[in-house]
Amino acid sequence: MARFIFITGGVVSSLGKGLMAASLAALLQARGYRVRIRKFDPYLNVDPGTMSPYQHGEVYVTDDGAETDLDLGHYERFTGVPSRQSDNITSGRIYQQIIARERRGDYLGATVQVIPHVTDAIKEFAQAETDDLDFVLCEIGGTVGDIESLPFIEAIRQLRNDLGRGNSVSIHVTLVPYIAAAGELKTKPTQHSVRELAALGVQPDVLVCRCEQPLPASDRAKIALFCNVPQAAVIPALDAKSIYAVPEQYHAEGLDSEVLRAFGIEPGAAPRLDRWADIMDRLQNPEGEVTIGVVGKYVGLPDAYKSLNEALVHGGMANRVKVNVQWIDAELFESEDSDIAAKLEPLHAILVPGAFGERGAEGKIASVRFARERKVPYFGICFGMQMACVEGVRNLGGIPDASSTEFGPTSEPVVGMITEWMTAEGVQKREADGDLGGTMRLGAYEAKLAGNSVVASIYQSDDISERHRHRYEVNTHYRDTLEKGGLVFSGMSPDGMLPEIVERPDHPWFVGVQFHPELKSKPFDPHPLFASFVAAAVKQSRLV
Ligand code: GLN
Repeated sequence: MARFIFITGGVVSSLGKGLMAASLAALLQARGYRVRIRKFDPYLNVDPGTMSPYQHGEVYVTDDGAETDLDLGHYERFTGVPSRQSDNITSGRIYQQIIARERRGDYLGATVQVIPHVTDAIKEFAQAETDDLDFVLCEIGGTVGDIESLPFIEAIRQLRNDLGRGNSVSIHVTLVPYIAAAGELKTKPTQHSVRELAALGVQPDVLVCRCEQPLPASDRAKIALFCNVPQAAVIPALDAKSIYAVPEQYHAEGLDSEVLRAFGIEPGAAPRLDRWADIMDRLQNPEGEVTIGVVGKYVGLPDAYKSLNEALVHGGMANRVKVNVQWIDAELFESEDSDIAAKLEPLHAILVPGAFGERGAEGKIASVRFARERKVPYFGICFGMQMACVEGVRNLGGIPDASSTEFGPTSEPVVGMITEWMTAEGVQKREADGDLGGTMRLGAYEAKLAGNSVVASIYQSDDISERHRHRYEVNTHYRDTLEKGGLVFSGMSPDGMLPEIVERPDHPWFVGVQFHPELKSKPFDPHPLFASFVAAAVKQSRLV
């Protein structure tokens, strides 16, 4: 039977619970255990798919097509375990299921209540598909004391009892603020937060204390005394120099051993952390650096492009170079007097990432043109591929009206909505005026790569599977026009209907992909497209 680790947060949000969960899972994995991490989000959205990236950061997509919280991206990057739909639940999804059951009459006339119906659903979710695991880590979003998270804390309380002694551990992540005027760290917020959690029936076994200054032994002792945990289980967590330094840092502070001890397991030999040491060595000792411009829409909020940023860092690690990412607002290139060359000339490569809606599209098309004409490495991801195709038809195919139906009706729909496509489960349909939530081509789809293509040599394979999240497709009607202009369709869906990859063989590096390769990149296994793109940027840096 799997053992459960429940992770809650207190005092303030943004304490890095997700990274802590991911790091702990990586440490347990490095000790030979099989792990899976789950995220419980107390908000009422069914999933984050319809939330603005400004609100919620990136939407992380899994192989099985779930639109999930960006913490699942950390989980996957740190453990390599592919996340699934069943790893992210929201209050909205739970209520949706319960209300659907109630309407069907499944409750046989009973009054449907938070306890036991909502809490039962949460417990069921936590325990589903866990037979082949040693540890399941469940991270509860939000902060203890939020009204929304109460049913989750109550479900943990019940589950700890159901699982029996020694089968679950509760970790509480808190803040120990430094008050400069007093020159002291303050433990009171932690004491209050633990008291609040304990009042709900959940006594933490391990406390992770985020702090800006080293936590003296006297403060650890005080926290231990007031919060009813062993002093060794009060784990100080100072800010790390990189997110990839976090697993080693937590190990040095004893997190993994204390968690095992809380289960009554003697920690034994230290975990094998060479993987993390190698990652840090590559990060800290680069042999050069490149600057890559990302011409996007949500450039004010780096969390909106979390996986993309990480994948670029991984591409840098693969080449032992530091990647400086310059986030550029595409709208800058839309005014008459904008000097696009001045902004883009210093860059060693240009990337246009995924996006929704027309805003900034013309600026992105202008950036594609610059990259194509000036022979600067170009990587178009999803929307970035679509805009590369619009650019090709407009400027090389001589069709100035080329556009995407995403921006409104057009006589030249180079990018358009298809109303059905094939999946393993059969034909999927979508309507132009249907719901926004859950109506995209989502999750893993296979693609066949042309044998002699650049991408086949990058992947070292003709068959790939990558994750999708989009409503529109490049229209194969324009294939001849685009290929005459040098943009080759080098990857197609297995039935040959949907373009998956376009590339320019006559360009140093110009690839557009309809999917999101950044979602599968790992620090210990950089995605081949990002490794190759950064290598092209390195070559370019020797030219400029
Ligand atoms: N808006 C485009 C579509 O829906 C691209 C989406 C994306 O870049 N993820 O097809």
